[in-house]
Amino acid sequence: MNTDPASYICAAIRSVPDWPKPGVTFRDITPVLQNPRSFRVLIDLFVYRYIGQRLDLVAGVDARGFILGSVLAYELNLGFVPVRKKGKLPFRTVAEEYTLEYGNAAVEMHTDAVRPGQRVLLIDDLIATGGTMLAAAKLLQRLGANVVEAAAIIELPELGGAQAVKATGLPLYTVCRFN
Ligand code: AMP
Repeated sequence: MNTDPASYICAAIRSVPDWPKPGVTFRDITPVLQNPRSFRVLIDLFVYRYIGQRLDLVAGVDARGFILGSVLAYELNLGFVPVRKKGKLPFRTVAEEYTLEYGNAAVEMHTDAVRPGQRVLLIDDLIATGGTMLAAAKLLQRLGANVVEAAAIIELPELGGAQAVKATGLPLYTVCRFN
């Protein structure tokens, strides 16, 4: 019997306790990607939400956001731009730093990745504290992009990231919520 598409996707995500460190439950999307049916249903959920919307680009966050974002961009007939971890992009870059539990991290984009006014959908696999998504959104906005929505498969409400993103006025769409 088929369940609804979102429940089917959420049930296919693998939870790995105590990885990468004790106390953290890693939400692993590789089983969803590996199975052709769940991969298609996942992408189609996003296509269903965004097809026909006025968008110019999909920006995917390093690294699992690349997998989702590039397929989605292709399906929606949009261009794809990567938001990379620091030090990976070869051309002129802009960076946005953000704080992690221990220390700092930064995301980078090419300065010509978006043109001012372009309407961009930002996507990653998961939003936890929201630091990554907020830094990526800020970077896109600094380049003049109009970030129309942020999207992720999973949100972890207890870590407050989804709330933090919405508090900036940026709409957020997620498929699954795990505590
Ligand atoms: P954050 O910046 O705290 O919202 O963390 C989000 C980023 O870290 C995303 O790129 C996720 O891929 C990764 N991440 C954080 N926590 C988890 C988790 N529990 N399971 C899988 N990925 C995670």
